[in-house]
Amino acid sequence: MNIETKIITLRDELRQHNYNYYVLDKPTISDYEFDIKLKELQKLEEEHPEFHDPTSPTLRVGGTVTKNFETVKHEHRMYSLDNSYSKEDLEDWEKRIQRILGDVDVEFTCELKYDGASISLTYEDGKLVRAVTRGDGFQGDNVTTNIKTIKSVPLQLKGNYPPKFDIRGEIILTLEGFAQMNKDRVEAGEEAYMNPRNTASGSLKLQDSALVAQRPLECLLYSIVGNNLEITSQFEVLEKARAWGFKVPTVAKLCKTTEEVMQFVEYWDEKRHDLPYETDGVVIKVNNLRHQEELGYTAKAPRWAMAYKFKAEQVLTVLNEITYQVGRTGAITPVANLEPVLLAGTTVKRASLHNADQIEKLDIREGDTVFVEKGGEIIPKIIAVDFTKRQASSMPTRYIQNCPECETPLVRKEGEAQHFCPNDTGCPTQITGRIQHFISRKAMDIEGLGGETVELLFKEGLIANYADLYVLTKEQVMPLERMAEKSAENLVNGVAASKAIPFERVLFALGIRYVGETVAKKLAKAYKNIDALIAASEEELVAVDEIGGRIAESVVQFFGNSDNVEIVSRLKSYGLQFSLSEEQLENQSEKLKGQTFVVSGVFESIGRTELKKLIEDNGGKVASSISSKTSFLVAGANMGPSKKTKAETLGVPIISEQEFMSKLAE
Ligand code: AMP
Ligand code: ZN
Repeated sequence: MNIETKIITLRDELRQHNYNYYVLDKPTISDYEFDIKLKELQKLEEEHPEFHDPTSPTLRVGGTVTKNFETVKHEHRMYSLDNSYSKEDLEDWEKRIQRILGDVDVEFTCELKYDGASISLTYEDGKLVRAVTRGDGFQGDNVTTNIKTIKSVPLQLKGNYPPKFDIRGEIILTLEGFAQMNKDRVEAGEEAYMNPRNTASGSLKLQDSALVAQRPLECLLYSIVGNNLEITSQFEVLEKARAWGFKVPTVAKLCKTTEEVMQFVEYWDEKRHDLPYETDGVVIKVNNLRHQEELGYTAKAPRWAMAYKFKAEQVLTVLNEITYQVGRTGAITPVANLEPVLLAGTTVKRASLHNADQIEKLDIREGDTVFVEKGGEIIPKIIAVDFTKRQASSMPTRYIQNCPECETPLVRKEGEAQHFCPNDTGCPTQITGRIQHFISRKAMDIEGLGGETVELLFKEGLIANYADLYVLTKEQVMPLERMAEKSAENLVNGVAASKAIPFERVLFALGIRYVGETVAKKLAKAYKNIDALIAASEEELVAVDEIGGRIAESVVQFFGNSDNVEIVSRLKSYGLQFSLSEEQLENQSEKLKGQTFVVSGVFESIGRTELKKLIEDNGGKVASSISSKTSFLVAGANMGPSKKTKAETLGVPIISEQEFMSKLAE
């Protein structure tokens, strides 16, 4: 046998053993024999670098060190899931689906919801080329070097796979692996990790991939996205992925009715404690991919999938003290400081009490014994007080009257739950909070500058608002605690680089109350530049689609304050983007203003999402179901028959893709 053949044979053999062990859980040789073969291959590869293969099993041991993970845009967005908690919730969902799909049989695939860190893997020609974390759903971190060390992730696929696709899954730690890891750590004098989920997610961002290789991580897959995949159902997705060599749990079940779905849920609610990994619920998906396409997405989640959350665990503990936090908008949040207690794998010390009403409603007092619950969210909730344990000396809680940071008397507007500190220009927490929001990832995303440094800069009198960031010099920053020449330079460069951030994100960064990411996009699109927005009246703002009275009032109030206008004009003079770019403007028009479209079926020249964007960019509205308000139904191939009938009954004109395009070109 020549050397090359020998190397290739060894690689194939080791791949198969990895697969047997990590995917099938059925090893056929001992660890020792495996190690001997691996060492042999390592030696041959070292001697013959000309036969290098990026998918070799020897590369699983890691070794690459990554300082900063590159940000990568997801080709297909990674959505979140809507949650349900009862049979009624599920029935409502099914009704909504039937309303959109019309009178067709809908089947569901039920899977477990794995509790770990989501990951998107890209395969080209059967080879793993990229692994990206979910991030904010639009873009994540490139963690390929770390993912390659996870043995259940195939580097080279088997069988008949499409040339290019993304596959999504969850990186988890098994309970056994997690326990072993903690045992080792405690023995080595280190602190134990809190829970498998956070540890799995933290592992992905370790700089040294050799450390990742040592962790018993696994990757469980559940969805495939891409073009021309020739897959017709979710159940087939799971089967195909399994056949290509991925680890796909076999508990998934195809269900025909909500009853069957509920049986699956109830079964696993009971049996989940026997699983080798943690699950926090079930994910139910419409099985037929054509139905999925037709149902589409809300702003956050697919309409064709629903998570059913298992009931959270509860514990009793003592509320030691209620303290109050001030947010960047001046909103006051009461916080319950608890006697530390173990809950669903984490030690809980604090819980949010939301507002004064909540405190009154629960009649909660310092010294009370309370029920604490942890749902899916990170911050636990206080559900109720155990009144049988209340001390005779207990006194009703008196909500604070003054800001804990600046002593200013608090205000509470009609109809609002939250108390506010009105001293927005003088309250230190509000000032730094606004600057911290401004620099945050979804806003100006300023590299080299973090929340703590903002506080430091403020304390030292170097900045009093976010515009001041742009005149900071390296010499000013360097003397600060924990700063050095390099970090000072990074800070100044990071600030300068943010001048390229597009208008809609600058608008979001300004921190106008109620102007979140989505609203900022809407406003940027409608007004195109800041001067037009500053000049807009409340009436004009409300006339913009989806801008309500509350937002309009807040925008007018913000720009009615001359301090804010001055800061904006300073930012403008520093070169920040305060209007849409040429490119953004070019692709927009008002041609479809006042018209509502429903899009159905598959299109030839354009994807469904792009088509919808095209409609919106040209001033039109997209709706998910046909009503008398629909102006046109744009019909592609394989359109659902019920949509057609409904359009005909209501007299809604049906147009083809080509007709739509020529309408736009008019
Ligand atoms: P959430 O973060 O609560 O909105 O839930 C959405 C997340 O659930 C997704 O991003 C996935 O990472 C995760 N997930 C776990 N198991 C599944 C599954 N079987 N199907 C789809 N998503 C899942
Ligand atoms: Zn204050």
